[in-house]
Amino acid sequence: MLIVQKYGGTSVGSVERIKEVARRIAKSKEEGNDIVVVVSAMSGETNKLIELANKFSQTPKRREMDLLLSSGERVTSALLAIALTDMGFQTVAMTGRQAGIVTNGMHTKARIEYIDGKYIEKELKKGNMVVVAGFQGITAIGEVSTLGRGGSDLSAVAIAGSLNADLCEIYTDVDGIYTTDPRIEPKAKKLKEISYDEMLELASLGAKVLQTRSVELAKKLNVRLVTRSSFSDDEGTHILREEDIMEKPLVSGIAIDKNQARVTLRGVSDKPGIAAEIFRKLAEDGVNVDMIIQNVGLDGETNLGFTVPKDELGTTKQSMEEINASQSLEFDQEVVKVSVVGVGMKSHSGVACTAFDTLADERINIEMISTSEIKVSMVISEKYGELAVRALHDAYKLDN
Ligand code: ADP
Ligand code: ASP
Ligand code: MG
Repeated sequence: MLIVQKYGGTSVGSVERIKEVARRIAKSKEEGNDIVVVVSAMSGETNKLIELANKFSQTPKRREMDLLLSSGERVTSALLAIALTDMGFQTVAMTGRQAGIVTNGMHTKARIEYIDGKYIEKELKKGNMVVVAGFQGITAIGEVSTLGRGGSDLSAVAIAGSLNADLCEIYTDVDGIYTTDPRIEPKAKKLKEISYDEMLELASLGAKVLQTRSVELAKKLNVRLVTRSSFSDDEGTHILREEDIMEKPLVSGIAIDKNQARVTLRGVSDKPGIAAEIFRKLAEDGVNVDMIIQNVGLDGETNLGFTVPKDELGTTKQSMEEINASQSLEFDQEVVKVSVVGVGMKSHSGVACTAFDTLADERINIEMISTSEIKVSMVISEKYGELAVRALHDAYKLDN
């Protein structure tokens, strides 16, 4: 089998951990598999590099940030290859560029355009194992790029897709996908399997165990994906097509996103074209708007509320000032978005009501709501976020 194995930050967080990962890879190689490994930087390293840059500037150029941040993954890829070679396994380490990963020019959140698989394939043919530095690529004009936070997952899936690998294993510090973040609810249950669509919702709604775009791409390219622990041999969670899943629970999981902020524009003129102008401007400036609420207008004016990622608040403020969009602009950073996800919702009513009842029983005020076929999301005060997750987990009986 050709297997792509990705090891996250905690998994390669120390000398001991890298040695342990090397032993795991060696075992899989000895079982007769061809192996391509993708590594993250050591845990905490990317944050450290960002802090370092901020010692010099609060608005560093993204091009230089990419040069800086891509270095973390170079270190671990080289160290792991050195360890494997020392154990007697022919191994080469590669940067994103050397592995043929070509991205667009959107520095710090680049998209992979294609992977020229011939560089990795050539090494595999020679009998080498390949260790690729995750989270990075190269633009068409030769600039180093990175793929957004958590982007090594995307590197692994994209490589698995381009090489037509039999399996892509994501090794992390939990032994699979749980019904909710086990650090918040210790009663959370590990799922045997979950559909791409549900995983996609959970990821995009805050469950950082897999990066959103990696799940999107795995679904598109039909990559067989499994999430496992690098600390144990437990079987992980398989991410599959909905039709291949045996059990389809009503609700599969609860997610919490702590990186959202609520923006309110008061005194917006209530006339055609205003919402278009505001959200076009935000889109042009690269702000990711999520939930939107517009109130019924009064005296030709209305209020408009929406959420954006916390780190895009500065840009949001600037964008709104530039188009003079409202009489007043308010921000609330002390909010979280809590979401209930499950494909079973497609065919059952009442799931949303249970969520609202549950939060009401806990006397938690819901500030915003949005729903889709397979999710219900609610914005609430940050201080009740984890309580809400546990209460919802209980309400849908996810612990049994
Ligand atoms: P890595 O560094 O290996 O990429 P991450 O920190 O990005 O690991 O992701 C793993 C973490 O995701 C876990 O430690 C866990 O706290 C968190 N997490 C959030 N939601 C879930 C979930 N539903 N199931 C499992 N882990 C989750
Ligand atoms: N090191 C990068 C990050 O911390 C990428 C990754 O870990 O996947 O976001
Ligand atoms: Mg991650």
